[in-house]
Amino acid sequence: MDCLFCKIASGTIPVKPLYEDETVFAFADIHPQAPVHVLVIPKVHVQSMAQAGDEAMLGHLMASAARVAREQGLENGYRLVLNTGDDGGQTVNHLHVHVLGGRHMTWPPG
Ligand code: 5GP
Repeated sequence: MDCLFCKIASGTIPVKPLYEDETVFAFADIHPQAPVHVLVIPKVHVQSMAQAGDEAMLGHLMASAARVAREQGLENGYRLVLNTGDDGGQTVNHLHVHVLGGRHMTWPPG
């Protein structure tokens, strides 16, 4: 399968891990939208939240995102984003959690 984030998770495309364990991989977004912008992905290929059925995997993914935020020093708060499908603004079809922080976030998002 030709999936960019599968290649990153498997090391085929080398990127610096900001967190990694058996099931998740975290790395800096190439086009950061905040001083801290990290992507946390499952190593297994899941297209998006709309296809995600493994609740244990999802729980670990979210806990890992919170861990990354903690390790990145975002004690003043942060935003987790899961863009899902076309209307959700998803551009890479491999489930990922954006961890955004280091500035004050506004609402509503665009
Ligand atoms: P989405 O729009 O699907 O929610 O988020 C995809 C994210 O992946 C975007 O923020 C984009 O900047 C990031 N991205 C796309 N290609 C690459 C890449 O090759 N390397 C990294 N580190 N991030 C990427």
